[in-house]
Amino acid sequence: MKTFDLIIIGAGRGSYLAAKAANLGKKVAIIEKSKLGGTCPNRGCVPSKLLIGYANKIREIKSSKKHYIKSFIDDIDIEKIFADTNDYINSVEDFYEKIFNENVTVYRGEASFVENKVIKINKDKITAENIVISTGSRPAEPLTEGSWTSDNIFPLKQIPKSITIVGAGFIACELANFFDSIEVKTIQLVRGDTLLENEDKDIQEIFKEQYTKNVDVRFNTSIKEATKQTNNHFKIELEDGNFIQTEALLYAIGRVSNADTLNLENTDIKLNEKGFIKRDEFFQTDVKGVYVVGDASGENMLQHAAAYEVNHLSKILFEDKIKPLKFKYMPHAVFSDPEVASVGLTEQKAKNLNLNYVVSTTNWKASAKAKALKIEYPQTKFILNPYTYEILGCHLIGFESATIIHQVLAVMHIDNDIRHLKNMLYIHPALSEVLLPAAVNAIKVIKEYKKSQET
Ligand SMILES: Cc1cc2nc3c(=O)[nH]c(=O)nc-3n(C[C@H](O)[C@H](O)[C@H](O)COP(=O)(O)OP(=O)(O)OC[C@H]3O[C@@H](n4cnc5c(N)ncnc54)[C@H](O)[C@@H]3O)c2cc1C
Repeated sequence: MKTFDLIIIGAGRGSYLAAKAANLGKKVAIIEKSKLGGTCPNRGCVPSKLLIGYANKIREIKSSKKHYIKSFIDDIDIEKIFADTNDYINSVEDFYEKIFNENVTVYRGEASFVENKVIKINKDKITAENIVISTGSRPAEPLTEGSWTSDNIFPLKQIPKSITIVGAGFIACELANFFDSIEVKTIQLVRGDTLLENEDKDIQEIFKEQYTKNVDVRFNTSIKEATKQTNNHFKIELEDGNFIQTEALLYAIGRVSNADTLNLENTDIKLNEKGFIKRDEFFQTDVKGVYVVGDASGENMLQHAAAYEVNHLSKILFEDKIKPLKFKYMPHAVFSDPEVASVGLTEQKAKNLNLNYVVSTTNWKASAKAKALKIEYPQTKFILNPYTYEILGCHLIGFESATIIHQVLAVMHIDNDIRHLKNMLYIHPALSEVLLPAAVNAIKVIKEYKKSQET
C-alpha cells in the first residue's frame, strides 16, 4: 500500500490544496473521477456566467428603446456562443494539470474508503496521515430519461429550438434567462408560486415581477409524465392537465451529496440528516485526520466558500494555525435578470428568530447613475439591529448588485456598523452611491425606532 502525506478526494477546489501542499514538499495524492477543476469551471459557475454575459448584452440591446434608440438584433450566432463557452471548458483540465508539481500523483477514478484511513482507487490502496474529502455535490437525479441537468448540459451540445427547465432556484433562473435571451422557446416549470425562495420576500416579489416579463414561467405545476418521442422531442403532461412539447428538458431541482460514492460505512465518519458529511469547526470529520471541505459538507455550497475553506484548511494543516472557521456572513448572488445579491438574514429569518430588528428599504432612484441607466425597480433592503446599528442582512436587486454589495460586505467584515456606510465618501455619481441614501434612511429608521421605544 502506498503512503502519502496527504490524500485529497475530489479535484474541485481541493486541487488548490494539493498544489499548495506539493509546493511545500508534501507527497500528495489527488483522486478525481470526472474532470480536474470540479464543478465550478467545468459545469458550474464559470460556464453558466459566460452564458449570462451573452444574455445581459442581448437584454441590453433589446431595452435600448428606453434610451430612445431603435435597435434590432439581426443575428445571434449561437454556434459561436456555444463554441466559445466550450473552448473555455476544454481548457480547464490543462490549466489544473499545470498547477501540480512532481509531488502530486493524480489518480483517475472513483475513490472509496476501505477503512478509516485507507482509500481504494481502482486496484490500488493508498493511505495518508491526513485525508481531505472534497467530493462536492451533484444535481438531484433528473426524473426523465434523456433529459439534462447542469452536469451534462456542459460542454454545450445541440442547440435546441425549445427547452423546458424544471426548478425555481438560482441555477434554473440563470439558465432559463440565458436560453430565453437567445430566443430558444423557453418554459420554466415551478412547483410552487415563488422563485428564489431563499431570498428575502420583498426581493423575491420584485424578481418574480421583472423576470416573468421575459421568461415564460408556469407556476404551481409540475411534470406528471414526460416521454421522449420518436421525433426526439419530449411530450410533457403537467399535473395541471396541460401538455408541452419540448426539444430539450433540463432539471435543476437541487443538489445532493456525493458521500454515497465513498463507502463511508467502512469508517467512523458520520453523515448529517441530508446525507452530507458531518464536520467540526476545524473541518474534521468523526475520524481524526480526515477532513471535509466545500460542497461535500452541504453547508454553504458556493465556490467562494469552498475556496475560503480550502485556504483555511491549508493553514490548519501546514502553518499550525489551528483556528476554527465559522463564517459569520456568507454572501451570494443570482446572476439572472434581474441580478440579486444578498448577505446575512432575510426579514423572514429575523422574524423567525424573534430578533429585535428594523427594516429600511430604499430604491435607487436618487442616484444620477441609476437615472442615466434608466433603471427603475432596483432596491436596497437592510435588516438592522436598532440597538447596535449592526447590519443583520442586506439584499440588493438590480443591475450589478453582486458588485455593489461588496461595500456592505467590507463594512460587515471589518466593523459592522451601518453608520460607516453613511460617513464614507462616495464618488459622485457612481452607481455604488445608491448605498448612501440607503444608509441615511437606515439610520433614520433606527432613530425613529429608538424614539418610539422611549415613549
Ligand atoms: C450551474 C451552476 C452554477 C453555479 N454558480 C455558482 C456561482 O455563480 N457562484 C458560486 O459561488 N457557486 C456557484 N455554483 C456552486 C459551485 O460550483 C460549487 O459550490 C463549487 O464548485 C464547490 O466546489 P467543491 O470543490 O466543493 O466541489 P466540486 O467542484 O463539485 O468538486 C468535487 C469533485 O469531486 C469529484 N468526486 C466526487 N466523488 C468522488 C469520488 N468518490 N472519487 C473521486 N472523485 C470524486 C467530482 O467529480 C468533482 O470533480 C454553481 C454550481 C452550478 C452547478
